[in-house]
Amino acid sequence: FRDATVRLQAQADRREADRRLQRAERLQSLGVLAGGLAHDLNNILTAILGNLWLCRQGEGGQSETALLEIEHHAHAAADLCSRLLAGAGSAPTLPIAVDVEVAIDYVLHRERRLLPPGLEVERTDREQKLAVMADIVQFRQVVQNLVRNAIEAMVGRVGSIGVECARVCLPAAGVGGNAAALPVGDYVRIVVSDQGPGIPPDVLPRLFEPFFTTKFTGRGLGLASVHGIVRRHCGAIDVETGVGVGSRFVVHWPATTWLGVVATADHGPVPRAGKPDLAGSVLVVDDDVAVLQVTARLLRADGWTCHEASDSAQAVALLEGGLQVDGIVLDVMMPGVGGLELRETIRRLRPGLPVLLVTGMMPDDGGGAASSPDDVLLKPFPREALFARVRAWLRRE
Ligand code: ADP
Repeated sequence: FRDATVRLQAQADRREADRRLQRAERLQSLGVLAGGLAHDLNNILTAILGNLWLCRQGEGGQSETALLEIEHHAHAAADLCSRLLAGAGSAPTLPIAVDVEVAIDYVLHRERRLLPPGLEVERTDREQKLAVMADIVQFRQVVQNLVRNAIEAMVGRVGSIGVECARVCLPAAGVGGNAAALPVGDYVRIVVSDQGPGIPPDVLPRLFEPFFTTKFTGRGLGLASVHGIVRRHCGAIDVETGVGVGSRFVVHWPATTWLGVVATADHGPVPRAGKPDLAGSVLVVDDDVAVLQVTARLLRADGWTCHEASDSAQAVALLEGGLQVDGIVLDVMMPGVGGLELRETIRRLRPGLPVLLVTGMMPDDGGGAASSPDDVLLKPFPREALFARVRAWLRRE
């Protein structure tokens, strides 16, 4: 009986030690994330603040250059956010049927131009007519990050990087790791392999952590975003590696039926120049006052009459009070009643009234939020994209 008590106590101690270790590891990851984020954002802010000062001082040409710099750095901040959200699996996705071969060739065409001498990238098979449902920009980002890592792993060596695609039906013999936990079905398997130094055992568990890098500060978002994007698209990623042998990153992505018509280009509207012939009126709903005001000011500058509401209750009160508008620009993430819930109320109050969702990220349950890419505008949106979407309402009439 005493032996059993001692054994139970030892097991409890071990569990407590494991929990402490996991907590310490989580804190370490958080520290790496905060450090990486602060490093990148502080650089961007330094550039923005410096250029703002130059703008105030400058005459003519100098202000114009400084304004362009500020715009450039604001885009860099937006890019950082989108990579972070991708890593968290929360980047808004606009899935379409993607031609895998064309999308991969598009990435490889660009990456081949950056190859150091002695290296080449080879497509080791060419299975035709593979298609996946994916956000095309994010799909390319996955391939690009894996290929770039492979190139960087092979710098100073001679050899080739392999990119291979095939259709597989899971479960399948010999498929283990994360892919073994995927639901039964058809998948496209994309393998990126290199003959680099391989990944040491102490690096392996931290590979997908945001900002974890063995390169230099400011890197380390590549595999985190690959992981987040693949997870968001209900796929899986696995790594096979051996020190001195090289690495193979294996992605399983749910396949879709080849319908003959698949997208090969970026989505997004083609902006029209000039003001619309017919401007109408729009209700803008956003809890962030700065975004609310700037959106309304931009739309007014495009000739629209704009009404503003800073939460869902105000928006509903305006509509119930009889406000007539041609459409509503609606923030998705709002405290209390969020944009998706408000859209349902609007559909009841004003069936058929167009609603344009505006968001920086999708809520966890927002996968089906967009009935079509035209219904969603991603923050930070370029002015032209806002104008093009809002003008499209009038063309629909
Ligand atoms: P970054 O490449 O910017 O450091 P990643 O998130 O893409 O960030 O990768 C994290 C780390 O994983 C890299 O710093 C590197 O140590 C390791 N790694 C990724 N891909 C490979 C590879 N193909 N071969 C060896 N190590 C790799």
